[in-house]
Amino acid sequence: MSLSQVASSIPASPTIELNEEARLLREKGEPVIHLGIGEPKNKTPITAILSSAAKLSSGEVKYVPTDGTPSLKRAIVRYSEEHYDRVVAPQNIIVSDGAKQSLFNILFTLCNPQDEVIIIAPYWVSYPEMVRMVGATPVIVTPEDGSLVPCFEEIERVIGSDTKAIIVNSPNNPSGLVYPEGLIRNIVDLCERKGIYMICDDIYHKLVFDGIVAVPACKYTQKDVENSKIILVNGVAKLYGMTGFRVGWAIAPKKLVAIMTNVQSQTTTCVSPVLQAAAEGALTGRQSMVESLRLSIQNNRDVLMQELHSFTDVHCVKPQGTFYALPDFNAYCRNSVAKNSVELCQFLLKKALVVTVPGKEFGMEGHLRLSYAGTVKELTEGIERMKWAIDPNAPSEIYIGDRKLVRDWL
Ligand code: PMP
Repeated sequence: MSLSQVASSIPASPTIELNEEARLLREKGEPVIHLGIGEPKNKTPITAILSSAAKLSSGEVKYVPTDGTPSLKRAIVRYSEEHYDRVVAPQNIIVSDGAKQSLFNILFTLCNPQDEVIIIAPYWVSYPEMVRMVGATPVIVTPEDGSLVPCFEEIERVIGSDTKAIIVNSPNNPSGLVYPEGLIRNIVDLCERKGIYMICDDIYHKLVFDGIVAVPACKYTQKDVENSKIILVNGVAKLYGMTGFRVGWAIAPKKLVAIMTNVQSQTTTCVSPVLQAAAEGALTGRQSMVESLRLSIQNNRDVLMQELHSFTDVHCVKPQGTFYALPDFNAYCRNSVAKNSVELCQFLLKKALVVTVPGKEFGMEGHLRLSYAGTVKELTEGIERMKWAIDPNAPSEIYIGDRKLVRDWL
């Protein structure tokens, strides 16, 4: 029996696969350190818990409107006014099962088979696969100078008559970089001139460090939401550490939202009202937890940078936001231990019980994505173990859990 060629060609999300591998090792009692994880460790904000608990205990947990409950939409309208200085009508909003479903719905709604979607490397692992799933073609723009942010001309060069959209994710997963304002302004201008959609994945927009601001793309358009090419994606997963609640949203012209709503009505019907109530609680509750999360992550970023400095041959561009860094491990990808970032990650997991994510999955071979969303202890111990495993200048003995190990492969 033959199956769908498109579906069969889609690999599992490597980050989700790694999470599962780490979970199984931990279940076996192995002292795994997870530097691959894409979620903060904080507890759910109390306002989110209370509001979802109230919904649950009402006993009225039924289907709700496909595009989102009116009260969550009102909270998103206020959020958009406050953070984006943008007037948004409820009909411009659709709530989905996480920003991930929002992105998929947008691409499914926009793309025909011959269309191209521009993706800037390094990119979040799911973009190219989502573009393929909707039958379109991902066009990857990789900075030619080896940096982690392309220049505008590199993007402009790949625009053609089939270009339908460009996905922009700043602050960026996996680099942790915030794109320069000039680049954002130029992309907005390009999209408006050429009639291309600019899909802004803003899921990390407030997790920025050192006073840096991730200036939203809509600052550079004169057009209102209805007439703009900018589609905004956001959610509660990262800013509030509510990854398990699965609530995200898209803001787009009404016509597009209406089609996305039809698509969603035929697939998932609606996001659970219990989880929408939680998202509403987070958005309308005290926002001080976002600031304390941001500060603790910034502190972790500093610890990580310090630890990475002591590696003999690792270079890392200092992240300006998110909770990821994408250090360059090329010097450790060309030896008997590993030939590429995938092999290096496998080696680090096997020998040092540290989970990292191969740069290859983000379009940046030779790099590793490290997450600093965990604790300082995990970070320092994780990097120490990595050094022990691959850096000949590191001490050859180490304790992992209560096992004393001696390195005999370098
Ligand atoms: N966009 C980016 C850049 C992400 O890193 C993630 C989560 N890793 C998502 C979207 C998906 O977010 P959600 O959990 O809300 O689906």
